[in-house]
Amino acid sequence: MRYAVFSDVHANIEALEAVLADAARRSPDAYLCLGDVVGYGPDPNACVDRVRRLGAAAIAGNHDRGAVGGLDPAAFSPLARAAIEWTARELTEENRAFLAALPDRFETPAFVAVHGSPREPVEEYILDLPTALAVFAETDFRVCLVGHTHLPVVFVRGKDGHIRAQDLRADDVVRLSGTSRYIINGGSVGQPRDGDPRAAYLIFDDGVPGVTLHRVDYPIAATQAKMTARGLPPLLSRRLAAGT
Ligand code: ZN
Repeated sequence: MRYAVFSDVHANIEALEAVLADAARRSPDAYLCLGDVVGYGPDPNACVDRVRRLGAAAIAGNHDRGAVGGLDPAAFSPLARAAIEWTARELTEENRAFLAALPDRFETPAFVAVHGSPREPVEEYILDLPTALAVFAETDFRVCLVGHTHLPVVFVRGKDGHIRAQDLRADDVVRLSGTSRYIINGGSVGQPRDGDPRAAYLIFDDGVPGVTLHRVDYPIAATQAKMTARGLPPLLSRRLAAGT
């Protein structure tokens, strides 16, 4: 199976449409959304509608939970919280129910997928080697797909127990060895933070097996203009152009 795996759309419909158009050209067998469809951006309902129409397998992110009252607002930074409160007011009843019903993990024989980490599916950030080491030690997945940090990276644990991290850049291909374990993060569709403002997603082929990271241009200024018009915090809009 070839999966188009995308995460952290963050209510950015321009970025989501660009990613889905790019992914469609690669004819994936299925779509997998790793959470945070909403939060930060100006189009929460359009993005939830699009994910629902796509029939993507989807799991919950911390912003999805926050927007439907499933996480304490105090868990978020002031800017994130301002956007979450705005999002909560905007969401239709139908989309609120969809987000509230999202599971916190998706599993196949080939991989497990969570928003944050298999230890704490919705909230834990796997940002560094010590965290990855602890996650590998406490769990037994072979391949884990995650989002949440907005940073494309693969953590690899070799059969000798050695751990390394490899940042993923556009068009990077990583072949997966049967004797290693992997935590794979494809970055963010709607709010990249690795210095590349282009939307990110990956194709995961569980047959080869391997992953390829893709980056896609989208009309950032159009998204920013909507954020300004909706009164969302200016810093959230500015960071889109910098990819930070
Ligand atoms: Zn996020």
